[in-house]
Amino acid sequence: MVEFKVTTERQTQLLDITQLVREAVASGQGSAAVVYVPHTTAGVTINEHADPAVARDFETALERIVPSDWPWEHIEEGEENAPTHIRAAFMGPSVLIPMRDDGTLALGTWQGIFFCEFDGPRERSVLVSVLQ
Ligand code: ZN
Repeated sequence: MVEFKVTTERQTQLLDITQLVREAVASGQGSAAVVYVPHTTAGVTINEHADPAVARDFETALERIVPSDWPWEHIEEGEENAPTHIRAAFMGPSVLIPMRDDGTLALGTWQGIFFCEFDGPRERSVLVSVLQ
């Protein structure tokens, strides 16, 4: 397993980590790679990374689908961060990517891997395991 850190700059931010994941699997050959985020207010997803507007549209959409001005019950350190947990759950904590025989990720032409921050800015961890 390889662990790397990412630093986010906004409360809600999709960060393209495709190249970091490619580097994390570069030394291993296997059937698939698992990318896992060990956080409750962040997630990971695969979507278009050719146009950066797609990531920004995700950020806007998730803030609208799960609004902050709701009678949330979960309060943490004086802050209502319940919506950030739920936004993270929509994205999920992991993705599984098949690997080709040459050890590369079998991503589609337009696909990229995004770290999904919902309670930033802060430093986060991403774990990558190559399955045999
Ligand atoms: Zn919380």
